[in-house]
Amino acid sequence: MTGSGTDPRTTAATPHKTARTSAPGARRTVIENGYVATVDGAGTEHARGHVVVEGARILAVGAGPAPAALREGADVVDATGCLVTPGLINTHHHLYQWLTRGYAQDSILFDWLTALYPLWSRIDAGLTGSGAAGAMAVLARSGCTTVGDHHYIFPRGSGDIVGALVEAAGRIGVRLHATRGSMDLGASQGGLPPDFAVETTQAALTASQEAVERYHDPSPDALVQVAIAPCSPFSVTADLLRESAVLARDLGVRLHTHASETVEEDAYCAERFGKSPTAYLEDLGWLGPDVWMAHCVHLDESAIRRYAATGTGVAHCPSSNGRLAAGIAPVHDLLTAGVAVGLGVDGAASNESGQLGVEIRESVLMGRLRSGADSLSVRHGLWMATAGGARVLGREADLGSLAAGMLADLVVWRVDGVEHAGILDPVAALGLGALPPIVRSLVGGRTIVADGALVTAEEAVIAREVAAASRALAERL
Ligand SMILES: [Zn+2]
Repeated sequence: MTGSGTDPRTTAATPHKTARTSAPGARRTVIENGYVATVDGAGTEHARGHVVVEGARILAVGAGPAPAALREGADVVDATGCLVTPGLINTHHHLYQWLTRGYAQDSILFDWLTALYPLWSRIDAGLTGSGAAGAMAVLARSGCTTVGDHHYIFPRGSGDIVGALVEAAGRIGVRLHATRGSMDLGASQGGLPPDFAVETTQAALTASQEAVERYHDPSPDALVQVAIAPCSPFSVTADLLRESAVLARDLGVRLHTHASETVEEDAYCAERFGKSPTAYLEDLGWLGPDVWMAHCVHLDESAIRRYAATGTGVAHCPSSNGRLAAGIAPVHDLLTAGVAVGLGVDGAASNESGQLGVEIRESVLMGRLRSGADSLSVRHGLWMATAGGARVLGREADLGSLAAGMLADLVVWRVDGVEHAGILDPVAALGLGALPPIVRSLVGGRTIVADGALVTAEEAVIAREVAAASRALAERL
């Protein structure tokens, strides 16, 4: 990085080390002979190293083969020809949109939203579960181990949608950061969504509290956490934004929304509120270390300073920003200012690929288009996809880097196949080359992907379910 700010990559997390001893007989996995990129605060990498996992946590990481005493009775994975990284963390998605891919292909955000609201307003818990399973299967197959989701459409009588997301995450075996989103500003009140797509302010607040009370697990080992996430300044009233912030802080959970995505949003906020989206959100209590914003494409220097000063995190979604021609986020400037930036695929209706691993390369390429060839390295991309994402979600003590005491979420990527053999640097193979096949992916020590395939669920079954659910939803229009 160039610039004089504090590079957030060098701020090491302190792993939880108390009360983490594994139960006697906990399963042990030894991964050795691979190139280990730990993504710790010092950027430690071992050209030939090992990671030992016991139970849900990492027991040891280091250079050379694993100590003989730790190999005894363990499941040994020979990672020769492989890159070992922390599991990738997705900080922004709309999983239900897996069922609405390929629509409004040539539209900008506001037109794309307007085209899709009627379809999305016919979603229910059953369809959401099917779409989410498809989206999370593809995320897992692209190296993702923690899935952040933002669901903000809750039609009347649609059932327990957050519950369906939790169930789908359990089926695939990924960690879930669900957010209970909301919209209460319909077109008749000056908002973008049609009135039939929004809830009342009070209904949104009540349901948000219920979702947190029912599904949020505050423990360091949590597989499911819940945050509160009114959708955007142009679909939510000031009251709901303000009250959501109060509620989240009362409940001790995080806050998430879309911010500064397009020039049209800037114009909307200037006309309606007389200020920028950043100033508007800050006035409603929405900047802080417990908040992360999706996109942040159109932040000026003073807005970046406010993000840095308040510890507000950013979910950078380069493919979606390209699909909707929203612009290129100032990632170099954000990182230079010390802002925590994670990566997100965003909803599948604006990123039909839905592969998180691909976003590492997209973030590097788009960052360079905006700020120059030396502005963003592949290691910045990997950091955003792992440790940066963990910071954005408030999980940096447990997730995002490979170190003793951290949760055992990691990926073993094969980089000696025909796509990657001979690439000088294994991290560049991941960050600039084709998305490598996955030899093994662990979530809390449990294998979810092995030899390139999901092991927790049948991919063909999920694919059929997605096709049927997409058709069923389209027929409801
Ligand atoms: Zn989004």
